[in-house]
Amino acid sequence: MSLLNVDNITVRYGRLTALRNFSLSMEQGETLFVTGPNGAGKSTLLKAIAGVVAPAEGRIGFQGQKVDGNPPENIARLGLSMVPEGRHVFGALSIEENLILGAGMRKNPAQAKKTLAEVYEMFPVLAERKDSHAGVLSGGQQQMLVIGRALMTEPQLVAIDEPSLGLAPKIIDQVYETLTRLRDERGLSLLIVEQSTTRAVMAGGRMVMLRSGEKVLEGDARELSKGDALNAAYFGFE
Ligand code: ATP
Repeated sequence: MSLLNVDNITVRYGRLTALRNFSLSMEQGETLFVTGPNGAGKSTLLKAIAGVVAPAEGRIGFQGQKVDGNPPENIARLGLSMVPEGRHVFGALSIEENLILGAGMRKNPAQAKKTLAEVYEMFPVLAERKDSHAGVLSGGQQQMLVIGRALMTEPQLVAIDEPSLGLAPKIIDQVYETLTRLRDERGLSLLIVEQSTTRAVMAGGRMVMLRSGEKVLEGDARELSKGDALNAAYFGFE
């Protein structure tokens, strides 16, 4: 059984079709990059998977259950953590309070405490500054915080929208080191949206490219980067 099955979905905003007949499947422990130019429908795909927007057609299955049409909190409870674009932290709350909020739906406080310790182990910078207001963190640290917060529910799948947006290259490297470590050491499944294909090629794994709401390319990122196909698909050359 696949972890995630997106089967022929179409998503519309009024008269605009943002995603058309799109299909995708992901296995446990897999990292999948969704790339493509501005307005291609990448965020819409994540929102559809997380239950934030409902597809007009098609079906989405997660952990073997049909989830399209379900509210986001139900899908989160099944093991999906979504990190939307823009690094939304609660600036007036401390780092630790931000993380604890992430564990919101966890019933067992002892387990939440254990996960908190694990998140601190993964992101020592958050542990060092746990009592500081989240608002004073740098962009890179805020990205660590939102990823850490997403891990507080011990998800099966973390879906992240443009983790490198607006960050300096060195900081992007750090964010990706962390993501790669989560993949390699914990077998976490990652669905990462990035406009550029560069990070997908560097990190390795499968890549899907969207353009104007349709899938134009899919395959091993490094293999695809060897020929001209990547650029041709990205820019729509014949
Ligand atoms: P970006 O890299 O700019 O974030 P994207 O690939 O994530 O782009 P989407 O944000 O999914 O693309 O947008 C796909 C299309 O849907 C675009 O044409 C966008 O303008 C449109 N769109 C997105 N959200 C809405 C909305 N809430 N209402 C109307 N149109 C929308």
